[in-house]
Amino acid sequence: MDFELPPELSALQAEAIAVARAAAEQSDLTEDTWIAAPDRVFSMELGKRGWLGMTWPVEAGGGGRTPLERFVVFEALIGEGAPLATSWFADRQMGPTLLQFGTPEQQRAHLPAILDGTSAWSIGMSEPDAGSDVASIRTRAVRDGDAFVVNGQKIWNSGAASADFIYLIVRTDPDAPPHAGLSELIVDLRSPGITIQPIKDMTASEHFCEVWFEDVRVPAENLVGELNGSFRQVMRQMEHERGGIDRLLSNRKLYVDVLPWTDTSDPRVRQEIAAIESGYRIGRLLVLREVLGQAPKQFSAATKTFCTELEQRVAWFCAAALGPAAMLAEPGLSQRVSRNVAYAPAYTIMGGTTEILRNILGERVLGLPR
Ligand SMILES: Cc1cc2nc3c(=O)[nH]c(=O)nc-3n(C[C@H](O)[C@H](O)[C@H](O)COP(=O)(O)OP(=O)(O)OC[C@H]3O[C@@H](n4cnc5c(N)ncnc54)[C@H](O)[C@@H]3O)c2cc1C
Repeated sequence: MDFELPPELSALQAEAIAVARAAAEQSDLTEDTWIAAPDRVFSMELGKRGWLGMTWPVEAGGGGRTPLERFVVFEALIGEGAPLATSWFADRQMGPTLLQFGTPEQQRAHLPAILDGTSAWSIGMSEPDAGSDVASIRTRAVRDGDAFVVNGQKIWNSGAASADFIYLIVRTDPDAPPHAGLSELIVDLRSPGITIQPIKDMTASEHFCEVWFEDVRVPAENLVGELNGSFRQVMRQMEHERGGIDRLLSNRKLYVDVLPWTDTSDPRVRQEIAAIESGYRIGRLLVLREVLGQAPKQFSAATKTFCTELEQRVAWFCAAALGPAAMLAEPGLSQRVSRNVAYAPAYTIMGGTTEILRNILGERVLGLPR
């Protein structure tokens, strides 16, 4: 097996690393930047470079490039800590969903702004009583003439306070079995009746939000895909959400910056470095398999579990390597380490908890008895 990238991708990789480093230098945050570091200007730069919608069909305005090219660019951008949060959800998830399930009008209305990096999207799935169990969603949308009227509450919506649209999962048939009565709507976050309240997390970041909907009128043409049939669409989106390089490299830059501070005369430290380095290589191959469409169906559950558990291991390793200095949170490296330790539990919660993903693996991938 030859694990090297094809030589023609090396120039693209070098360019992406240079762009990422320049952007990361300007940014306050260099970890978890795909979710917690929005930057509208950088988003537009990505659009100008043709690095948004890279693999989408040319007829839809996309780049028509290969999944491997996109992988190379985002491995560099995320690994180097470039501020990606403005464009990431739409590029990773909403754009591909609209390409697959959206109407031509929806594609014409939304893809151009996603491609040039001028629109930001948030994912409106979780609710206070419906996280792991999507089928318990209660936010209601009732058809009224040419609109749906939405009432309810979402929570943990990353980037909602700075986004333009929320991709909302709603209950449209309360009498159907729980999985069967759900639909998806594109909602303009400036619509009357929407209240957005940022939530401060343990790192003092306010990237995720609670969002309330009170008699919000959403044009009926904003329904994506099938009425009451969105469960299949949600599962497809979760595949986009779980198998990517964002799940492996969120704190890669921190690891690289901490390495020179480690005491490699200690064999236990060397062993841990060896385990993490092997983990990166295994995780990268798992992600590449997803990217190239070679992974078994729903295997992204395993990819995300492996990669995010490694991210947590990296956070603990960085803290152990710095020792007590990691607790002081002084500006600089120790502050980054203590922030990352506080953030790390999120890796195995967001996008589906590790327990749920192990259930998917056991029941749906391996076909084990419940
Ligand atoms: C940083 C971050 C960003 C997020 N961003 C978004 C976003 O942008 N949009 C959005 O909609 N949501 C977002 N979320 C929410 C995330 O998707 C949910 O937190 C996650 O799905 C878990 O749901 P919950 O918090 O309600 O926990 P629960 O579902 O209540 O689970 C609580 C615990 O019980 C366990 N559990 C539950 N059911 C089972 C079961 N059947 N078997 C075994 N164990 C079980 C879980 O594993 C977990 O440990 C984000 C979360 C985080 C941490």
